[in-house]
Amino acid sequence: MGHIWFLTGSQSLYGPETLAEVARQSQAVVARLNASGEIPVDIVWQPVVTEADAIRRLVLAANSDDECVGLICWMHTFSPAKLWIAGLKQLAKPLLHLHTQAGRELPFATLDQDFMNLNQSAHGDREFGYILTRLGVARKIVVGHTSDPAVGHKIGMWARACLGAADVARLKICSVGANMREVADTDGDKVGLQITFGAEVDAYGITEVVDYVNAVDPAVIDALVAEYADRYDIVPELRPGGERHAMLRDGAAQEAGIRAFLDDHGARAWTNSFQDLGALRQLPGFAAQRLMAQGYGYGPEGDWKTPLLVRAAAVMGEGLPGGASLMEDYTYNLVPGREGVLGSHMLEIAETLTTTRPRLEIHPLGLVPKDDPVRLVFDADPAAAVIVGIVDLGGRFRMVANVVDVVAPEAPMRCLPSARAYWKPRPGFYPALEDWLALGGGHHDAITTQFGAEVWVDFARIFGVELRVIE
Ligand code: MN
Repeated sequence: MGHIWFLTGSQSLYGPETLAEVARQSQAVVARLNASGEIPVDIVWQPVVTEADAIRRLVLAANSDDECVGLICWMHTFSPAKLWIAGLKQLAKPLLHLHTQAGRELPFATLDQDFMNLNQSAHGDREFGYILTRLGVARKIVVGHTSDPAVGHKIGMWARACLGAADVARLKICSVGANMREVADTDGDKVGLQITFGAEVDAYGITEVVDYVNAVDPAVIDALVAEYADRYDIVPELRPGGERHAMLRDGAAQEAGIRAFLDDHGARAWTNSFQDLGALRQLPGFAAQRLMAQGYGYGPEGDWKTPLLVRAAAVMGEGLPGGASLMEDYTYNLVPGREGVLGSHMLEIAETLTTTRPRLEIHPLGLVPKDDPVRLVFDADPAAAVIVGIVDLGGRFRMVANVVDVVAPEAPMRCLPSARAYWKPRPGFYPALEDWLALGGGHHDAITTQFGAEVWVDFARIFGVELRVIE
């Protein structure tokens, strides 16, 4: 799960008595943050640092601790920043500069020189901010007292970005089949992706996946079918005894088989190609839906960039209401004053976007000459959401995000046999889409309804990737 280290800076000039008080106060700050209920990981207090060598060693220890996903630094008093240069030059973890102080209110009537001596982060943190800027250290900055819920919230959102970044840095993405023929925006530089984000994309043949699907124990399929009956409204023809029940069992075998394939390869994200389904009996879109809800990133058409974002969104949103999914901007309503985007895909939208009970249905899919695929059908809940994509500009990556409002469609879409979301882009339909197109934003995105764009801002900063937010 990971944790975050809390470093408190000071200097030996103050003497042991004052430094003991510094330690007590910074422990109280950490305790308040841990009790805030806003931060999804433990913040681990570290002894107050006053020497350059100790700072450098602490940074190296943080770098080499796989469980440490980030550092929070606070200069409780004044910590001359030359003490920090050697350590900061080694820093390989995300940094949050917390600009706070122990007490909330100035005790004007009793305030004396001892108080001034102890409570000087107002200028101590400026000294620290200067050296961070001088060294070009990317960081999140949070200002405020830790009793303010907004402070805990901001740190919590940054901690989520740290968790997502740590996951992506070691993510393995299985590319089962290649990029869809002739398509550009889903393709690009896999080595560049790994150098930038850490995530490794490896290719596998469909035959190996088919072997996994065929090897699924019928008892596992029975258990999944029972779970489906629990969670979904299944159309009669797919129910046990129904004339097309075998196709639901094929769908269950695909879910279990692909999950086993991914787990055996240490992968938490994948892509496949509807142009290369080998001996699979149907497009595994239902499997993609199910696995996304279990936290596996996914991209269709051999798109190996979007699975990284869908996986990151799932990690960063864990425990929050809403969900994360692949999304494709599909078709528009262009009536003046009622403009909106209908997002969907062949099948592969995650059920985490709805709190309603999805329908489990089967329909033909003209583009894919296979058995009709089973699929979950639902409307995404109305909610604020962020859609985000990775653009390969050749030599570097750009992320493009748009804050949108998912709304109810104007009428029930009874004829559309796939899961979907209908949304209004911020700041407005026309400027948002003009910006998206101008920035080279692609046609696949991750959508999340669990957090706002600020988490993607923190995520992109950690990797040093440009992010343009349209909002
Ligand atoms: Mn597509």
